[in-house]
Amino acid sequence: MEGVESTNSSAQVREKNDPGWEHFSLVKDASGKKKYRCLHCGTIYSRGGINRMKQHLAGIKGNIGACKKVPHDIRHQMQENLKQVVHRADMAVARWFYDSCIPMNALNSIYAQKAIDAIAAIGPGYKLPTYYMMRVNLLRDCKEECQLLVEAHRNSWKESGCTIMADGWTDIRSRTLINFLVYCPRGLSFLKSVDASDITKDANTLCALFSEVVEWVGVTNIVQIVTDNAANYKKVGALLHEKYANIYWSPCAAHCLNLILKEICSMTHVKDIANKASKVTILVYNHIFLLSWLRKREGWKEIVRLGATRFATTFITLKSVHDHKHDLQALIISKYYSDSKLAKTVKGKEATSIILDNKFWSSCLIMTKISGPIIRLLRIVDADEKPSLGYVYDGLYRVRKAIKNLFKDNKRLYKPYTTIIKSR
Ligand SMILES: [Zn+2]
Repeated sequence: MEGVESTNSSAQVREKNDPGWEHFSLVKDASGKKKYRCLHCGTIYSRGGINRMKQHLAGIKGNIGACKKVPHDIRHQMQENLKQVVHRADMAVARWFYDSCIPMNALNSIYAQKAIDAIAAIGPGYKLPTYYMMRVNLLRDCKEECQLLVEAHRNSWKESGCTIMADGWTDIRSRTLINFLVYCPRGLSFLKSVDASDITKDANTLCALFSEVVEWVGVTNIVQIVTDNAANYKKVGALLHEKYANIYWSPCAAHCLNLILKEICSMTHVKDIANKASKVTILVYNHIFLLSWLRKREGWKEIVRLGATRFATTFITLKSVHDHKHDLQALIISKYYSDSKLAKTVKGKEATSIILDNKFWSSCLIMTKISGPIIRLLRIVDADEKPSLGYVYDGLYRVRKAIKNLFKDNKRLYKPYTTIIKSR
């Protein structure tokens, strides 16, 4: 499109023709190093190119001090000029993306801005790597860099233990590939991808494949093996555990999170709170005269009541009941309720004492705070077709930290919950 522009000489010519230069003189110091002197304020700058000098004139802060003497019209002119330059760069990137069908997601890559910054630091004249460089030299160098990183991780596997993750997927040629990853608190490393099309049904061969990975990582370093497809790998997990007694197989992330919630649900005091909360909601929803009183309250939203099919729902209900604390307390102390027949019944009295019990409300709040992050994680895992298991482990690590924080690091209080999460 604008092939000529990319040649070195023309970039330099354009650089020299830049209107910014009219406001600077080039000076050289004793060692011959180039410096720029602002013709308006006389300040001498040694670092940066014409773009930085224009920022000085335009009064754009962050990169350089603003010129205090430049006339308004020139300042405005420089501001406009800089805007145009940025737009020209944006357009150049856009054209490249559209022409080469580069996925928009490339913009979100953590490497994108770094690449652009590295190019900008060189200034005019940078040439893209050749086709050959990209395929051979650079690929080799990146691989080396990656191996060094993996080596660094590998050293920490011994200390902290690690998890092997096997992520099975099917590519466009309908081959079944298994990606092996190793997770440790330092980070996630990719080990290898294996074409397992012929062996997915054969547990013994599959087990041999896993064993190979286990041996490479180091049997004693591995705490568990996680796979994303329970049905395919269950038998392999059992075989592996037979072979290596210290290695356990863990099912997929969502299942795992549900089990954590289930175990918390089955703690006696949690059962007790859930039971009390449901007594309150049942009372309210079984007596329309109570509901109609509550529905007149400003900002009233229905209390979430879900079947107890999934463990998350217990906590969602608890949170919803807690959100209605003030509405429910207002109802209970109102003349409207206390004059009613219901207030004098056993169920009515029971609900009243629950609603007026501060301990009940604080327990509700604690359960909400404990389960909240786990449920959020569960939603992410459920929504994403291919959730990163590393993300889940990282998330659980943060959940544990949050729970410890919640109990102000009181081990006796947080231990029952963190143990449940840790054991998964
Ligand atoms: Zn100046």
